[in-house]
Amino acid sequence: MNVNPHLAAMPAGYLFSEVARRVALFREAHPQKQLLKLGIGDVTLPLPACAAAAFSKAALEMATPEGFRGYPPEGGYPFLIDAILARDYAPLGVSFGRDEVFVSDGAKTDAAALQELFAPDCRIAVTDPVYPVYVDANAMAGRLGAWADGRWGRLEYLPCRAENGFVPPLPGRRADVIYLCYPNNPTGTTLTAEQLKPFVDYARENDALIIYDAAYRAYISRPGVPRSIYELEGARDVAVECCSFSKSAGFTGVRCAYTVIPEGVTGTDGPGRRVSLNRLWRRRLGSKSNGVSYPVQRAAEAAYSDEGWRQAREGVAYYMQNAGILLRELRSAGCEVYGGVDAPYLWMRTPRGMGSWAFFDFLLERAGVVGTPGAGFGPGGEGYFRLTAFHARQVAAEAAARIRGALG
Ligand code: PLP
Repeated sequence: MNVNPHLAAMPAGYLFSEVARRVALFREAHPQKQLLKLGIGDVTLPLPACAAAAFSKAALEMATPEGFRGYPPEGGYPFLIDAILARDYAPLGVSFGRDEVFVSDGAKTDAAALQELFAPDCRIAVTDPVYPVYVDANAMAGRLGAWADGRWGRLEYLPCRAENGFVPPLPGRRADVIYLCYPNNPTGTTLTAEQLKPFVDYARENDALIIYDAAYRAYISRPGVPRSIYELEGARDVAVECCSFSKSAGFTGVRCAYTVIPEGVTGTDGPGRRVSLNRLWRRRLGSKSNGVSYPVQRAAEAAYSDEGWRQAREGVAYYMQNAGILLRELRSAGCEVYGGVDAPYLWMRTPRGMGSWAFFDFLLERAGVVGTPGAGFGPGGEGYFRLTAFHARQVAAEAAARIRGALG
């Protein structure tokens, strides 16, 4: 049997395994030293109590003859879809039908699988730096051609650096699909409606699709920063939006998310007919998924109850206070830091022109602080370093103090 040559040709998943390897070596050499971990983007606060209660109540319900349920509807239970529409979209003045929302086990799952809807020769554009899932999923499907000189053939990187205010330029050559993630992982930056609008216009003019990853939308607090791409006029014909309970309600270990595919989003099939992406996705789901478990969907629904919403917002506020401490302290230490205002990530320019892995080693050795080298998120991440706010309060202040000390 021959393996998938595109998968076999991919560079090794280097970033977090290399971080773990270097941390393990450091621990071996310095067993007494307490490390502060600001690397991995996983939440640390416990699940909102009312989501956990709904989870266990639903599990017990399943053990009764009246409450037992078998396979869930593949696109999600109406009770959860209604809660999503009421809490996440109605306040923005945006409405969808139940059939336009698909509940899933993760935004990562969906962001990776959406490429199954595209033709093999589609051209892809992503921001650089980028959440690597978009690139990897397309590469595994053989869509990006050969890996050469640190780049894939059919992929255009849209550079986001301090020099352009982390606002990606429009694709230079025609793109069929553009992946955008706002608030951004890894940079922690956002786009205003004015900055996002040209992408919607581009997609409309070029028959392109935008995959909008809004996994961190709960972290937005500034006015003028859209919570959803559908706040922009015309977006519902050209954009698909992925959202998640992972970072908004601490569900990374529970697994629940959803993707919106409005009826108006279409593409062209072989003979040149317009085809609904919503229909294709449902067709695909019917063959590949049996949906998300009932207790998980009840837990997600509870995260939208008044009490659940309050508890989830408290968690987000807690992380954002960490981000605020890091941002303030690092800036006052003279560091060039971005993000951290509407997102739980801070994106720091490495000082003194250090490479991002060199800065990783420097902080590990001199400060006992673990972050993530920007180079792991694409060529444009070189010279930057990601710090996350997903930790206990004392870690933020201590890490900032240690970084300040290490930088002298
Ligand atoms: N999208 C982005 C941009 C992320 O950073 C992450 C997690 O780190 C995800 C999606 C994953 O979401 P989920 O836990 O729902 O799979």
